[in-house]
Amino acid sequence: MQNEDFLKDLNAFMQSKGFIYGPFPEIYNGVSGFYAYGPLGKLLKNKVENSVRSIFFSNGFRELECPTVVPDIVWQASGHLDTFTDQTVECAKCKSVFRIDKLIEEVTGKETAGWKDKQFLETIKKEKISCPSCKGAFKEEVKAYSLMMKTLVAGKPFSLRPETATVTYLPFKRLNEYFRKLPFAVFQIGKAYRNEISPRQHLLRLREFTQAEAQLFIDPKEKNNWTKYESIKKEKLPLYTSHHQEKQLKVELISLDDALKHKHIKSKAYAWCLHLAYKQFLSMGIPAERIRIRQHLDDERAFYADDAWDIEIKLNTFGWTECCGVHDRTDYDLKKHAEFSKQSLEAVRDNGEKYVPHILEIAFGTDRPCFTLMDMFYEKKEDGEGKSTFKIPYHMAPIDLAVFPLQKKDGLPEYAEKVKELLERDFIVDFDESGSIGKRYLRAAEAGTPYALTIDYDSLKMKDVTIRDRDTEKQIRVSEKELKETLKKLLSGEMKFL
Ligand SMILES: [Zn+2]
Repeated sequence: MQNEDFLKDLNAFMQSKGFIYGPFPEIYNGVSGFYAYGPLGKLLKNKVENSVRSIFFSNGFRELECPTVVPDIVWQASGHLDTFTDQTVECAKCKSVFRIDKLIEEVTGKETAGWKDKQFLETIKKEKISCPSCKGAFKEEVKAYSLMMKTLVAGKPFSLRPETATVTYLPFKRLNEYFRKLPFAVFQIGKAYRNEISPRQHLLRLREFTQAEAQLFIDPKEKNNWTKYESIKKEKLPLYTSHHQEKQLKVELISLDDALKHKHIKSKAYAWCLHLAYKQFLSMGIPAERIRIRQHLDDERAFYADDAWDIEIKLNTFGWTECCGVHDRTDYDLKKHAEFSKQSLEAVRDNGEKYVPHILEIAFGTDRPCFTLMDMFYEKKEDGEGKSTFKIPYHMAPIDLAVFPLQKKDGLPEYAEKVKELLERDFIVDFDESGSIGKRYLRAAEAGTPYALTIDYDSLKMKDVTIRDRDTEKQIRVSEKELKETLKKLLSGEMKFL
């Protein structure tokens, strides 16, 4: 359930400190589902995306960038044009349209995954649910509403991509040529668009958003012959599933090997993908106790999906929230695109046998992790000066360092400028010379900046700088010569304050 008061505070913090602006464009009243990243928000998003890149790169993935506007035949093949819809109800009185599943979930607190139209309508009747806008009654029919954003290119129907995944499958033949053999793995980070009906969950439900989706193309015969699995099979994951014939779902730390033995997970390659997805979120600094991995119920799993789990994160604002899906899509997508394009999308085994590869997919976005980090690490201070802090893990902080000359005179600003220039190529550095030093520390803490560097009169004589730690408020003096190396070690966690 939603924590309204905290969301209001968090939103005010995000707007006023330069993280997130919106709904956008604010001066024209804003449209829900669109937000802008301000200077600090964009730096945070860069950190998130660089973390995603570095984890995928270090696991053998390569990055692609494909167009966001694609002819509709692609979306006919993928099924999006016909079936990528939300079920809606319309108010008979004011004509407002609502997503029926979200409406029922909000009013009753019930989980509606896998529900059919009849069940939705019966619940509206039984629970006497009325229109949130005007209290009027709903029409007794469920309508499918397309989430595709449409446009025309050279007079022909095109759509903005609703996901990055499909456009990653399309160059399969080229990729097969580039990598020379399977398995190979690629990912994209980029914009996608969905015509959401009435998005009201801030960065969690956007009409324009950034996805990060990775695909492993693999020979189905090799799914259980996955050597990378061996080094991680003892790792325990917080699986949220029904264990040992019990009906109730609960979270249990289960090793991947046990999960495979009990057939919670079907293949070694899939287990490896699930672990990799989990590692993505841990690497962003999200605490393990806030993460669970939920198995899709039979009736919410897409008909072609062989194995499907979601990574869920517990937010202060919205509670448990889906942040990533890991799916075994089998050969479904390549077969569909082969059929519609009339091209062969096959690979060849060493013995000459032809086959359609399977696709294992890790699908998430970078907006939800940004929201998650702000939701979890923003702390409103109730006492004293009423200043809030942003206790984000140091390696994810938008700004790495803030440089403060103690006074605006006697050569201190000039030396501080010199220190800033020395560090700017390796770090994101802020420079602040206005107000008392105490106020400047508070401002830096609100931005989540891990280290403040103060230049005082001794600094001019000794050619050194005082480094102050955001959380412990402890200080050390470091010579200009050793400054860069020391800060690198501090920010990577390799070195700590005494
Ligand atoms: Zn109404």
